[in-house]
Amino acid sequence: MIDWQDKLSSVVQELKPSGIRQFFDIVATRKDCISLGVGEPDFVSPQVVIDHSIQALRDGYTHYTGNAGLLSLRREVSRYLEKEYGLSYNPEKEILITVGVSQGVDLAFRAILNAGDGVLYPEPCYVSYDPMIRLAAGVPQLVHATAENDFSLKARNIAEKVDAHGARSKALFLNYPSNPTGASIGKDELLNIAKLAEEKNLIVISDEIYGELSYEEKHIPFPTLPGMKERTLLLGGFSKAFAMTGWRIGYACGDENLIKAMTKIHQYSMLCAPTLAQIAAEAALKYALGERDKMRDEYRLRRDLIVKGFNDMGLKCFMPQGAFYVFPDIRGAGRTSMDFAKELLEAQNVAVVPGTAFGASGEGFIRCSYATARREIEAALTKIAAFVKG
Ligand code: PLP
Repeated sequence: MIDWQDKLSSVVQELKPSGIRQFFDIVATRKDCISLGVGEPDFVSPQVVIDHSIQALRDGYTHYTGNAGLLSLRREVSRYLEKEYGLSYNPEKEILITVGVSQGVDLAFRAILNAGDGVLYPEPCYVSYDPMIRLAAGVPQLVHATAENDFSLKARNIAEKVDAHGARSKALFLNYPSNPTGASIGKDELLNIAKLAEEKNLIVISDEIYGELSYEEKHIPFPTLPGMKERTLLLGGFSKAFAMTGWRIGYACGDENLIKAMTKIHQYSMLCAPTLAQIAAEAALKYALGERDKMRDEYRLRRDLIVKGFNDMGLKCFMPQGAFYVFPDIRGAGRTSMDFAKELLEAQNVAVVPGTAFGASGEGFIRCSYATARREIEAALTKIAAFVKG
């Protein structure tokens, strides 16, 4: 008999199961549930992307690509970032095509961290950051984004956590617009954060997967701030803005030394991102920007609908600037966020995610995704209002 407790990595054994997964195991058992839970577009990928991919398969594109990804796609990513944000990256040296932003996060930590190095990151946050830091032998240094600031991250809160837990901070991880709150960071605060990164000599890893889903203000990528391009790794992807979650494709852009280090790991662990997904991503950037904008405009309508709905029923909900999540305040409901979500599911068959799935600081809030049709959102709001009243 093998004693697996003894054989499995202790870091892996100590990882907690994802709070989202735990909750959705419960949701999966229910029929006719209205879900505001999932963090992925309800839209199918743009037809032009699908058509190009089918043609590519017929044409025999079934082989590996180079480790960094198709040069034609890297060129297209470079053109896209230049056109959208005036950012200039050399497609031959400064761009790596990854298996979603997820792999970009993993490679970035593994490329920069020695055992015991600290990484500052905001909470509440997307579920993968803490485990990925730990798997790379780093020390998570959590910075709270607070309800008082509508969950928008502040430089002063980051400064308080530099070198926390006895670990020298090597990197600052950002995610804006944020999952789970939808909060972005304004220009002035971004400049404060940039100043701090400079003073503390931090590498910045910026997960901007929701950048294109910014509603009022144009998104400001971190590397566009003065002096930040050389110290920032920009992570972007196709899952959200182009409704391409299942293709598993994204990109990392940054200094050629960092990209080279990440590519070294990638060549052994992954070899290359899926060829078909690379072709699909290239088609998305060439032909699907109109579709992207149409989906963004629809999300904006849904956001306005859902924010009003929550405020009308007395659950305070700030207006998020981007992504497709709202984070209403349920602190007045006299329950933990997990109990609120479980009881709502039980009473009204509506699924939301407890804020604590995104870290302890999410207590008192629930995450609702509006990547679902407006009539579903309306039906869910009616049911949640009945639950809150009852
Ligand atoms: N980063 C954030 C903030 C996310 O919300 C998600 C998915 O929900 C990811 C990364 C993963 O993205 P990808 O599908 O590109 O791996």
